[in-house]
Amino acid sequence: MSETKLTVMVTGGAGFIGSAVCRHLIRNGYRVVNVDKLTYAGNLDSVRDCNVNPNYRFYKGDICDRNGMLDILRTERVGRVMHLAAETHVDRSIDGPAVFLQTNVVGTFSLLDAALAYWRELGGANQASFRFHHVSTDEVYGDLPFESGAFTEASPYAPSSPYSASKAASDHLARAWHQTYGLPVVISNSSNSYGPYQFPDKLIPLIILNALEEQALPVYGNGANVRDWLCVEDHAQALELVLMRGQIGESYNIGGRAERSNLAVVRTICDILDEKRPRQGLGSRRDLISFVADRPGHDRRYAIDPCKIERELGWSASGTFESGIRETIAWYLANEWWWGPLRCERHAGVRLGISE
Ligand code: NAD
Repeated sequence: MSETKLTVMVTGGAGFIGSAVCRHLIRNGYRVVNVDKLTYAGNLDSVRDCNVNPNYRFYKGDICDRNGMLDILRTERVGRVMHLAAETHVDRSIDGPAVFLQTNVVGTFSLLDAALAYWRELGGANQASFRFHHVSTDEVYGDLPFESGAFTEASPYAPSSPYSASKAASDHLARAWHQTYGLPVVISNSSNSYGPYQFPDKLIPLIILNALEEQALPVYGNGANVRDWLCVEDHAQALELVLMRGQIGESYNIGGRAERSNLAVVRTICDILDEKRPRQGLGSRRDLISFVADRPGHDRRYAIDPCKIERELGWSASGTFESGIRETIAWYLANEWWWGPLRCERHAGVRLGISE
């Protein structure tokens, strides 16, 4: 890398994947400007290690604030943008879709508008090197029958939930800003991530912590819904590659080649915890599994075909789901300082759902 470090603006860098991206980019020698509104899902403890690094800056800001975003882009002389900030919890999107449309659609529009104005001001090499990486989800492709193949970049969009519909809309905006205005946009759509620092209202941390505390382990329907799982460190590495080497105007599907039913995921967690923290005088934690009424619009299956990113950018997921979930469980067991206060917020009205 050259003497002048490339400055990457990461939106949503206090969230689960954004914080992994901040840590990953700092480790790889970039300058990182983290912009986050610090909603219930944002947590500066997740980027505690970055704080001490001179190549890291944090701004509390809202992506809907177009002029505020433009100020940060100019002040920090941002070289590339990775946009992760979003509302992300499917169950919350069903209870209250308005904030999903505001942040995911209007916010992405405002950020694209700011990035376009900034990109137009840049001259020569800086303008040529600029990229706007829009980070999205496989959920935009909608419900995949059990017997079908996996989603490719050419799969049609058919979102089922307010969350996935708002993400699909933001993908279309990002693509349109490239096609219409020439903004150098790249897009990625990835499968479900898991790993350290995931807010405990998502399936894997919720099940780990409920199982530890001998509480019920809620599973939607009969647990047959299938997701592809990707560990967050692999995800962060793939996102860096897409930002740095992705072809302008292209999208890349990122997947872990690790399809599992929700019930299989929950049972695996129970078995590993039984081994690491045996229950005194009781049977398996599988006994705590409790099937609850299915979520409306619950997609049966998501599966990603990652051939394009494997072929074109040389990325592939490392390790297996079983090794990744073991490391994740070990991290939650060792880091109660991080999740303890968040679990307590349950009593302060934070809704804990079972969204993957
Ligand atoms: P998260 O909910 O853990 O974090 C989102 C972050 O965005 C939080 O720090 C929050 O404070 C911030 N934020 C929310 N609204 C904001 C606003 N208006 N302005 C600035 N910051 C705001 O989310 P995550 O799971 O880390 O997901 C990050 C991105 O990756 C999202 O765009 C999501 O759609 C996408 N994605 C997630 C997954 C997954 O499995 N978690 C899979 C594929 C894609």
